[in-house]
Amino acid sequence: MDKVVDHDHRIHWAVSLPFFGVHLVALAALVVPFHWAYVGVAVGLYYLRMFGITAGYHRYFAHRTFKTSRVFQFLLAWLGASSAQKGVLWWSAHHRNHHKYSDLPGDAHSPVREGFWWSHVGWILAPRYEETEWDRVTDLSKFAELRWLNRYHLVPPFVLALGLLLIGGWPLMIWGFFVSTVLLWHGTFTINSLSHVFGSRRYQTTDDSRNNVVLALLTMGEGWHNNHHHYMSSVNQGFYWWEIDMSYYILRLLERLGLVWDLRTPPQSVLVLRQAQDERLAIARWWTSG
Ligand SMILES: [Zn+2]
Ligand SMILES: [Zn+2]
Repeated sequence: MDKVVDHDHRIHWAVSLPFFGVHLVALAALVVPFHWAYVGVAVGLYYLRMFGITAGYHRYFAHRTFKTSRVFQFLLAWLGASSAQKGVLWWSAHHRNHHKYSDLPGDAHSPVREGFWWSHVGWILAPRYEETEWDRVTDLSKFAELRWLNRYHLVPPFVLALGLLLIGGWPLMIWGFFVSTVLLWHGTFTINSLSHVFGSRRYQTTDDSRNNVVLALLTMGEGWHNNHHHYMSSVNQGFYWWEIDMSYYILRLLERLGLVWDLRTPPQSVLVLRQAQDERLAIARWWTSG
């Protein structure tokens, strides 16, 4: 399909310099002293902060798929912000827009309409999307501490980087913050760029969202993106036991500890619809093969 360009594609290069700078500094991993422990910290902080994005920014703040206390809410927002993917209110507002206009004019990051690079990273660096759309997040902006964290969203990543530097010097900071953050960025961005292009479509949603097991493993369950677009109020994005969804399993654990509650799951009608579609496909295959 030809790309349908409906956006101003300018990138704010000056403001984006730190984004490119982090990539450059990550390359220093090639020259600083190496230890496997550094790799372990990088991977550990990748998945810990991915949880902050998936369970925090996405499933809690953008979609309100479970409930928690005001303190734990703040901790989730802090953890999400430590991934250096801007503020929690900025993120949630743009994400709610994505669901409203998915793959239609008004969607900030549709790979179907505007290609891989724009949906992967371009839109994040564009002046057009720099501001927080406050009218989309009135349920969240009533919390003063979230407004503060949204404004000073660079504080958590800065604290993390500084902490690593103090604990383990330059090598630990390069691996634990810079390498880990670059991987975390591009891991997260695949949901905007690739998961509307590669994978299977269980549900006939109005967008091009897909289910993709590789992306689900990289993003702790977000790769079940067609499921998610079909029923975004569900805390689990893997709808069946074979659809691995690490964020969901951890949230169930946190529920046992009493830290989160009222986890919302898809109603039977959503799962039954899937069975009906499978049966129709099986019958269609039987006819065509016969
Ligand atoms: Zn979503
Ligand atoms: Zn999507």
